[in-house]
Amino acid sequence: MTGPHHTAQTKLQKIRYAIIFALLAGKRGFCHYFCPIAVIMIIGRMIRNVIRWPALHLSANSDLCTDCKRCSEECPMGLDVNGMVRQGPMENPECILCANCVDTCPKGAIRTAWFRKERG
Ligand code: SF4
Ligand code: SF4
Repeated sequence: MTGPHHTAQTKLQKIRYAIIFALLAGKRGFCHYFCPIAVIMIIGRMIRNVIRWPALHLSANSDLCTDCKRCSEECPMGLDVNGMVRQGPMENPECILCANCVDTCPKGAIRTAWFRKERG
């Protein structure tokens, strides 16, 4: 079946699927599940970590953190930034290094850095 009525119905169906996906996937659903750049970023970070190449990354001092969770609330990727601060390595493949968490933290517990601390 073709024609303007069928075309309109197909478009409506696509819009319905898009709305359902947006509701189920949450904040930045496309970025989380479909973005091809994420794969390149993950591979790049793995190589960078292996050869310990200086690169922009997040660094945190959990001693300064008061668990106010403002960093998590402001993260555009919906990441548990507070949890990352508590766990230590601020490495998350979904982090886009926007530095919102750095700007938001009232205690200065998160910062950006280029060089990593040498392993003890
Ligand atoms: S905003 Fe700063 S103090 Fe608040 S939870 Fe995040 S890291 Fe901790
Ligand atoms: S840099 Fe941006 S994306 Fe990464 S954890 Fe902080 S707020 Fe989230």
